[in-house]
Amino acid sequence: MTNSLFADANIRLERALKYIQISPSTEEKLKYPKSSLAVSIPLRMDDGSLKVYQGYRVIYNDSRGPGKGGVRYHPSVNLDEVKSLAFWMMFKCAVLNLPFGGAKGGIQVNPRELSKGELERLSKNYISAIADYIGPDRDILAPDVYTNETVMGWMVEEYSNITRQISWGVVTGKPLTMGGSEGRSTATATGAFHVIQTILPKFEKKPEQTTVAVQGFGNAGAQIAQLLYQAGYKVVAVSDSRGGIYCEDGLDIPSIREYKESNSTVKDVYCQETVCDLRENDVITNEELLTLEVDVLIPAALENQITEENAHQIKAPFIFEVANGPVTSSADLILEEKGIRVIPDILVNAGGVTVSHLEWVQNRNGMYWDLEKVQQHLKEGMERETEVIWKVALEYEVSMRTAAYIHSLKRLDDAMGFDD
Ligand code: NAD
Repeated sequence: MTNSLFADANIRLERALKYIQISPSTEEKLKYPKSSLAVSIPLRMDDGSLKVYQGYRVIYNDSRGPGKGGVRYHPSVNLDEVKSLAFWMMFKCAVLNLPFGGAKGGIQVNPRELSKGELERLSKNYISAIADYIGPDRDILAPDVYTNETVMGWMVEEYSNITRQISWGVVTGKPLTMGGSEGRSTATATGAFHVIQTILPKFEKKPEQTTVAVQGFGNAGAQIAQLLYQAGYKVVAVSDSRGGIYCEDGLDIPSIREYKESNSTVKDVYCQETVCDLRENDVITNEELLTLEVDVLIPAALENQITEENAHQIKAPFIFEVANGPVTSSADLILEEKGIRVIPDILVNAGGVTVSHLEWVQNRNGMYWDLEKVQQHLKEGMERETEVIWKVALEYEVSMRTAAYIHSLKRLDDAMGFDD
């Protein structure tokens, strides 16, 4: 693999371009982000000292609508990563036919080291630094790794203070009381669940005969584990940044979630109390989780988890990418050779941005929908586009990933190359 995530991300585009022709202008424009902003964010710490953090916001493309994408807080955030995530957002919005371009942001920080007050000031100072470049018709923010509803609430509050008007539509994934949408907090996992439920029956796989391992037990990972557990799948392994647990007979996901919400790591569940009393769970590493003999592997943490180093050891016949970019382009080739089907991030995790779109629509017209209406819209969109991509894969005899790129490239080309 190349050292640049963005260069690696581009390899997927190149693979899809072997199968379809797009206008030369689109092809040229796709090589570059529309804008890449790097900002220094000063933060007054609780002890009175001052620290400066690096923040980024990239709009990859806005031909189909305003920029749209999450904000990540993580010590390894850098411009190359944010650019890649914005690039994937562009394809993801086109996959679901949403009227958005692609964008992403982030701050290089370990949020666990900050107090709540410091985190609020950092979030607000980030908005202050990028305020001239965002807006409900320009670029719309959302949660990503280590950001959540509360952070989104601070961000919209700060933007509204700066613009001297209530601007709910600049941020999605907000608390319900601040213009949030029903169903947004569970949307990424629910969308992924619909993709899984559309794909697996094509292989006559029934939930009760299907074992699952989930890497990452955060917003997306814990909820997809829960949904699969409720639907009768046997979730045998889950993990977070500090390690994982395994139980051949299936884990009791609700009690793990309950434990995790009141404690800090999944691994502690084994080491200390609760589920150990219910089941005999083994502690495993994240590396071991990825190579388990399961039917379905769900990476739901960070990028570059399955690489050419460990791809040969993967045994799961299906990988559903809930995380962005968990499989590298060189690992893709190895997995394909092994007959492992990878259902790509730009489809699988698109439920989050789909409901973000609904939140933005509700903010703009001032009418709010009930959960049933949101869920129905999400289900229809995810099932529809999964079926389309499945057909494209059969028609072109390509992987689901290349099919998803072909499908979204057609839509992007219509907007980006309209004058060619
Ligand atoms: P989160 O912060 O809620 O959870 C991240 C989880 O990953 C945590 O449990 C953390 O402990 C774990 N983790 C971190 N490093 C790890 C490692 N090296 N190995 C194993 N686990 C590790 O984040 P999230 O919102 O659930 O996002 C997870 C992934 O899903 C990211 O790739 C994100 O871009 C993608 N995603 C999220 C959304 C959304 O709406 N939240 C939408 C689309 C895509």
